[in-house]
Formats: sequence, structure tokens, C-alpha cells
Amino acid sequence: MCNYIEEKKMVIEAGKKMLNSGLTVGTWGNLSVRTKDKKYMVITPSGVDYEKITPEMMSLVDMDENLVSGKKPSIEAGLHLGIYKNREDVNAVIHTHSIYTCTVAATREDVPPVLDEMAQIVGGGIKTAKYGLPGSPELARNCVEALDDRMAVLLANHGGVCVGKDLQDAFKITNVVEVSLKSYCLAKAMGNPVALDDKDVDFMRDFFLNKYGK
Ligand SMILES: [Zn+2]
Repeated sequence: MCNYIEEKKMVIEAGKKMLNSGLTVGTWGNLSVRTKDKKYMVITPSGVDYEKITPEMMSLVDMDENLVSGKKPSIEAGLHLGIYKNREDVNAVIHTHSIYTCTVAATREDVPPVLDEMAQIVGGGIKTAKYGLPGSPELARNCVEALDDRMAVLLANHGGVCVGKDLQDAFKITNVVEVSLKSYCLAKAMGNPVALDDKDVDFMRDFFLNKYGK
């Protein structure tokens, strides 16, 4: 069997980038990609420092959550798999405990689309999934449901999940979400952030998906 070395290296690099850009601390958070043949997911192992993960340690998991090779996967493996099963367009998932993402997640409130880039990159506002204990099937279910067809979701009292067509895409979305939620927190402190109109959100999302850079 092919050992998916490129995917493993890609996830390791993204994990280090996530740590160095302050999107997570310690071993919190986790990242995964779906392999090109769509048979497996490569995910960061449970409780290993991002700086110390080697390709051999990376967990290769099949779509029924069986470990094929590597160390024990992150406890959120079921959440990642749930997203892949529900979203054909998603091939990378990043879960962070970044500061503004966690701050808003602690309120258990949905975030309206208050910035243009939220409309363009996320596809609108960001919902907060109902609470579930870390690693539980309930958390995975709530996350998939609240994510729906968007590119980001918050996990109540926990953190955030961003998805993308590839790892680069998911990483960009993770950054945009964190910065947008920082602005949202500051706007809330100043007064009432104003949500964009639905038609403007739709226009910007469509422009971004179909015309931007073309
Ligand atoms: Zn977490």
C-alpha cells in the first residue's frame, strides 16, 4: 500500500505553521487531509508536540475510523471523518483553539456575517455547534450539522473548525476566521456590529468562487 508520505509531510508542515502563527498552543488542535484516492484520512496523532511529529507517527485512518498505520489519532478523528463523509468538496480540516475563536465560542452565539471577507471566504456567518464533550460522537454530529455547507464553524466552549478544498485553502480560512472574529469582538465592545444583507453576502460569495482572480 502507498504510504501517503506527501500528505503526511504536508500536514506536519501545516501543524508547525499553525503553532508558529499562534493559532494554537501545545498539542491542542488537530489537522487532517483526505487522501486523493478518498480512501483514507491522514491526521495528527494524539498528544504529540507539533515540532516532534514525524511522518511515521502520523495516523492513517480509514473511513470507518480504523487506524491503518501510525500512532493513535487525535481524539477528534471522528469529527474530521464526519465532515469528510458529509462534504465531498472538503479535503482538509483544521481544528484550532485560537484566542478569538475560543472567545466567541465561549458565548455559544452564532456570528452574523459582519465583514466582507466572511461572506467571501466562509460563505456567510459562522454558526456555533451545540456543546459536546471533546472527542465525543455528539460533538462530531453537532459540528457536522452546524457547519452545513459553510467553510467554518465554532464548537461551543471549545474552539473552531475550518475546512477547505485542500490544506492551503483550509489554512487561509483558519486565518481569516481568527482575524474576523477579533474584529467582531472589538466591534461588539464598541457597540453593535451590523450584519451584511443576504443578497450582498450571496453576491460576494459567488464573485469569490467564480470570478475572483479569473
Ligand atoms: Zn479541541
